[in-house]
Amino acid sequence: MSYVVRGLTQKGTFRVFAADTKDIVEEAKNRHGTAPTATAALGRALTAAALLGADLKTGRLMIQINGGGPLGEILAEADAQGNVRGLVQRPHIHLTPQKGKLLVGQAVGKQGYLSVTRDLGLKEPYQGSTQLVSGEIAEDLSYYLTVSEQIPSAVALGVFVDKDNTVTAAGGFLIQTMPETTTEEIDRIEKILMDLPPVTSLLREGLSPEEILKRIFGEEIDIIEKRPLTYKCRCSRERVERALIALGPEEIQRLIQRKEPVEITCDFCRQKYTFGTHDLEKLLQQIEFCKRHEI
Ligand SMILES: [Zn+2]
Repeated sequence: MSYVVRGLTQKGTFRVFAADTKDIVEEAKNRHGTAPTATAALGRALTAAALLGADLKTGRLMIQINGGGPLGEILAEADAQGNVRGLVQRPHIHLTPQKGKLLVGQAVGKQGYLSVTRDLGLKEPYQGSTQLVSGEIAEDLSYYLTVSEQIPSAVALGVFVDKDNTVTAAGGFLIQTMPETTTEEIDRIEKILMDLPPVTSLLREGLSPEEILKRIFGEEIDIIEKRPLTYKCRCSRERVERALIALGPEEIQRLIQRKEPVEITCDFCRQKYTFGTHDLEKLLQQIEFCKRHEI
């Protein structure tokens, strides 16, 4: 089961988040039919959203990455209930790995931005963005959090795709300083992080998110919350109907005249919604009914 934990070090000097996202990344791969490089990039973005989302009490957040590389745009969303979804513009992109490493940075590119939008149900969503540093996503997110949100942060993200194309490990962690964290404590943790094996190796060794945090800090972490993660989309037939209605009666009339069912696929989960002529006529009646009654 995929899940994310958030907690505090016992001295209260660092806020910590860690996630195992293997199942949601595998599901994203199956839904989008991603090639390994795209799976790794999308998986890292989904893990990043899950880590940042672990802090949400309400609403949702979206990470948007566009580095001008062959993968195109990547979107990843997480909400306060642990629902995660995402997409990559060109899911079939795969670059030949080098020294056994998937070339995520090259596939994402670094001529562009990473932005984070937090929609907490208030009037205006909050959005910030920074330029990409490497296209590797973890480094870019850490730069964004440190510069744009002004919270010094360390981020590690990893996805391991096996030869048979299954996702055998995925996850990551996020460490943030508190206002009272001393430079010595930051230096100590930075040094530990530099010597730490890649997060993918730790996950493949079988370490849980909690154990990875313990490995870094060498002490028990006070876990405040453990939240299950699910790959779940917000689309529904009703939402697609509303989108069709928004096209206006002339456009729907045109679709009816084609006498062919209209198939609409959700970009985030690839769920297909089919509307036959009869369904479209019903939508048209609905529009006319609303017009007549000025709804
Ligand atoms: Zn969907």
